[in-house]
Amino acid sequence: MKVEIIKCLKDNYAYLLINEKNKNACVIDPSESKPIIDFVEKKNINLKFILNTHHHYDHVGGNNHLKKKYGLNIVGFKYDKDRIPEIDILVEDNQTWTDQEFESKIIHIPGHTSGHICFYFEKEKIAFTGDTLFSLGCGRIFEGTYEQMFESLNKLKKLPKETKIFCGHEYTLKNSMFCEKYEENNKNLKKKIVEIKHKLKNNLPTIPSTIEEELACNIFLRTKNLQDFSKLRDLKDNF
Ligand code: ZN
Ligand code: FE
Repeated sequence: MKVEIIKCLKDNYAYLLINEKNKNACVIDPSESKPIIDFVEKKNINLKFILNTHHHYDHVGGNNHLKKKYGLNIVGFKYDKDRIPEIDILVEDNQTWTDQEFESKIIHIPGHTSGHICFYFEKEKIAFTGDTLFSLGCGRIFEGTYEQMFESLNKLKKLPKETKIFCGHEYTLKNSMFCEKYEENNKNLKKKIVEIKHKLKNNLPTIPSTIEEELACNIFLRTKNLQDFSKLRDLKDNF
């Protein structure tokens, strides 16, 4: 399995998870259809599934058109069935969704939205975390509580350290400035910031990150308790 990163809209990422043997693929969070179609046509990929982490337009915007064009199936959280366009396959927390070649655990991680899920491909050690865990940050709390978001991040923290994190947006540089402001003496963070700037200068994504890097550098994963987490989340909203 291989992951291709597709830039969408202003700062979104959609991802293609491709079985290199037969070129069958899933697309995760297609914000829009055109960049996906361009890539799929150029590389002769068979698009089989859309996997949606949550219902926001910048994650499901390509659903209608891609389904019409490729007749694929759309996978999303069961309680979001009325707000994920064209959803076909309803999944729930702790379930393993599988279609022979693709196999993903579903982890319910509410906070950003009530129905947000993570697709965790255990064999490949890859997690698609949408707008819950960003590299060096976490999503805004729109529908949930601080406690829910804190618990959701705690679930993700328990994934194996080498797990690659593919998130919904390229927010890493801005996030890094916030982490640096509130944790000045983190050497791992300083090192990561150098790498981030180098990647961006070369027009490369800063994604994927890993759980190990996030545990070392992401201040939202490093807070000890709910109170500190909530304070930081408020500060970040106005950063
Ligand atoms: Zn969102
Ligand atoms: Fe988003």
